[in-house]
Amino acid sequence: MKCPKCNSDLIPTIRHKVDVNYCQSCKGMWLECKELEQLEDEVFDFGEHAKGTLVFSSTPTTAKCPECNTFLRSFKYRLYDLEMELCENQHGYWLDDDEDTRVLELMKEEEADLQRKFLAEEKWATTLKHMRSGSFLSKVRELFR
Ligand SMILES: [Zn+2]
Ligand SMILES: [Zn+2]
Repeated sequence: MKCPKCNSDLIPTIRHKVDVNYCQSCKGMWLECKELEQLEDEVFDFGEHAKGTLVFSSTPTTAKCPECNTFLRSFKYRLYDLEMELCENQHGYWLDDDEDTRVLELMKEEEADLQRKFLAEEKWATTLKHMRSGSFLSKVRELFR
């Protein structure tokens, strides 16, 4: 497999516990679709549905897919400020130097946000339950006696 950027050989490497094909000269890496998911799941526990849309829109590039040679398309990873490339035939994603680490950071933030959101919803639900409970209403009535 050749690097879509500099045409060097890609070397199978394990990064962040995920198998990737790594280019030693430009330090980019090729991840199959499921490998990108694996990478995200290293830090993200809420499951696929909670991740939202990965690719919103993409633009053509001049780099070619190492599997099928079609031109890769560039997109913003989950609408973050992180450019990646993908093969439209779903072969995988091209990440530049250290972008896999960025993915982990972004996914960690995403998970923290979801945790905050769930916590807030839980608190609100208990507050509502509390308000509907008789004891709460009687307390309110007492206030107006
Ligand atoms: Zn390269
Ligand atoms: Zn392809």
